Amino acid sequence: MPFEPSINIQYLKSVGPKRAESFAKVGIKTIRDLLFYMPYKHLDRANILTSSKVLQYVINGYNGEVTIIGEVINKELIRYGRKQILKVKFKDNNGFYEGIWFQGIRYFSGLFNKGEFYAISAKPVITKYGNLQFVHPDFDRLGKNETDDFLHTGKIIPFYRIPKELKESNLGDFSLRKIIHYAVEHFSDQIEESMPEYIIQEKKLLDIKQTIKNIHFPQNFTLLEKARERLKFEEMFYFECLVAIRKNFVKSTITGIPFQIKAEPIKKFLKRLPFELTKDQLHVLSEIRKDLESKKPMNRLLQGDVGSGKTIVALISMIIVKYNGYQSVLMAPTEILADQHYKKICQLISDSDIKVVLLIGGQSKKERATVLDKIKTGDADIIIGTHALIEENVVYHKLGLVVIDEQHRFGVVQRARLIEKGFTPNVLVMTATPIPRTLSMTLYGDLDISYIKEMPANRKPVKTYIRSEKKLPEVYNFIKAKAKEGCQTFLVYPLIEESEKLELKAAETYFNQLKQTYLSDLKVSLIHGRMNWKEKEEIMLKFARKEFDVLISTTVIEVGIDIPSANIIVINDAFRFGLSQLHQLRGRVGRSIEQGYCILITKDEYDIKMKQYNFDFEYMSPAQIEKYKSIIRLNAMIKYADGFKLSEIDLKLRGPGDIFGTKQSGLPELKYTDIINDSEIIEDAKQTAFNLIASDDKLRQEKNSVVRKTLAENYSSLLKLSYIV
Ligand code: ADP
Ligand code: MG
Repeated sequence: MPFEPSINIQYLKSVGPKRAESFAKVGIKTIRDLLFYMPYKHLDRANILTSSKVLQYVINGYNGEVTIIGEVINKELIRYGRKQILKVKFKDNNGFYEGIWFQGIRYFSGLFNKGEFYAISAKPVITKYGNLQFVHPDFDRLGKNETDDFLHTGKIIPFYRIPKELKESNLGDFSLRKIIHYAVEHFSDQIEESMPEYIIQEKKLLDIKQTIKNIHFPQNFTLLEKARERLKFEEMFYFECLVAIRKNFVKSTITGIPFQIKAEPIKKFLKRLPFELTKDQLHVLSEIRKDLESKKPMNRLLQGDVGSGKTIVALISMIIVKYNGYQSVLMAPTEILADQHYKKICQLISDSDIKVVLLIGGQSKKERATVLDKIKTGDADIIIGTHALIEENVVYHKLGLVVIDEQHRFGVVQRARLIEKGFTPNVLVMTATPIPRTLSMTLYGDLDISYIKEMPANRKPVKTYIRSEKKLPEVYNFIKAKAKEGCQTFLVYPLIEESEKLELKAAETYFNQLKQTYLSDLKVSLIHGRMNWKEKEEIMLKFARKEFDVLISTTVIEVGIDIPSANIIVINDAFRFGLSQLHQLRGRVGRSIEQGYCILITKDEYDIKMKQYNFDFEYMSPAQIEKYKSIIRLNAMIKYADGFKLSEIDLKLRGPGDIFGTKQSGLPELKYTDIINDSEIIEDAKQTAFNLIASDDKLRQEKNSVVRKTLAENYSSLLKLSYIV
């Protein structure tokens, strides 16, 4: 048997069959797998101090985190009344120090052994007895040899996560490190290169052998960084190769219908419009027009902040399609929104021969049958419904364009479904929940993106305030005063899914109370998620006709609703909402030339903290961010009006863990790359991959054979997927 990286890990020194079993449980089967088991951090000597230095620092008022390496000389459990604490004493070459634990003391006690070496990191304090002390410090266990090496030669030490399966077969920090060290020493030179040589040269990447060596036991931190870069580049390179291959596939096998742009009907439509299109709207239309004229089916994402006027753009596109003899579908996320689109579009095209139908739940059987028939026979040009439209067996006469409103996540998947069904229509996905460029680029590499950045003229930014619940009476007075001037108000109470009933009750209670007290002079109405769309529709219509001043609601008004005469939105328990949700809600007002107001109501205690922490979260630790998330969000709402900026903050707050459920979108999860912070590498890898596929789409050239091989070996399942989507 050749002794090389692909053999079973059990043959590696200090592993054997039993440990190999444990390794297998966490997916490490071969030596190669082990070499790709990445450390999560490295101990950096730059931060290591001696105990006497630390003592001196603290006395001089230093108040940051430090790391000391030393040996355990004693540990004891000390009883204080009914409580116990763990105290572990250490020594290094210069003196003594101690770590103490108040919680989980049995657990921690088990982790420290007399005579063993540890690196301890925390903010140091000095006790009243003059001892240097660390409270609940971070710590890493080191071998004696490692400690000496580390201190004398500056060797950099890696740390690995040790899943419980490994712990069970007696693998700990330094035994695992030793095994990996041995593997790196003996096998990293045999790892096969997985990137083409010329790209390695061109991009000045580390080769795979150097990468593996330096990712585990780097000679210095610069090389560690280079190793990380190489892994990220490779990961994104292959990812983007798949995207490029998919794009080619769509281009070569799926041909759309080249439309002609008939100017007359568009001109007529624009003339009747009570406003001029903005520059951005016109620009997006010119991009869509090019898509429609070409043979390649359109696959475009339109990003535009709330109220930027995406609907008109969609409508004009649908008019173009109509005058080519094809049908368009407009899918909205909710029935009430579909209904609103329907009404608005009917009104906008009232003097044309364009036929619009609405297909949503709650219609009578007969009504529905008529609509379906019209769609089938071609007696409907524009079909408006919810996202469910695509799931149902609607038979189209000639489908030419699908517009998906207020959604980005599933746009790709829905398109795939259409293609599966044998359609190759043009697809326009519209969203007000912007995703940062790097992210959209990665998720939708083969999607063209248009932006509407400018708002229609004369729009004033919405004035945003944070008020504590104590101030609610003043807020109600403001609403009353504004009502006298003809302003209308949304009063929102958050609804949490698990307790829909309770929340509904709360909204009803508030409704009854407010009607009898603060808002007794005003006309108040209630809308909530439990109503069917017809009931909702009726209330929205009445509100739009100004039949009442205040609309109390759960978050059913969140997406897309357009009632330009409503200018104030009060959001109760605002800390419960995510940023994009808050921004969406705020977008319900300020949709006319009148000044809009958004008042975020918080619990009183939050209000106090708000003032205390008017921080910029860029400088906060993850733990702090976690703790003050809701306050950061509210502060961001005041600071920024721009949906793009807010969504970036939202993403940072959520962390890279759950970025738009990549699983659902059928894209691979990334192991090395951080979509937000590695945008340069991503862009570079994308360019490289796209150039390569453009010049050698079947990967037949000798210099690209390694790409072909790696894709086939490591990405075959995804490759298949890439032909579907
Ligand atoms: P969104 O992009 O959030 O879907 P809408 O398409 O609902 O925004 O447009 C918001 C409001 O702005 C609508 O009432 C629409 O009629 C109006 N609107 C759209 N374009 C313009 C424009 N160019 N000038 C003035 N008002 C516009
Ligand atoms: Mg909209």
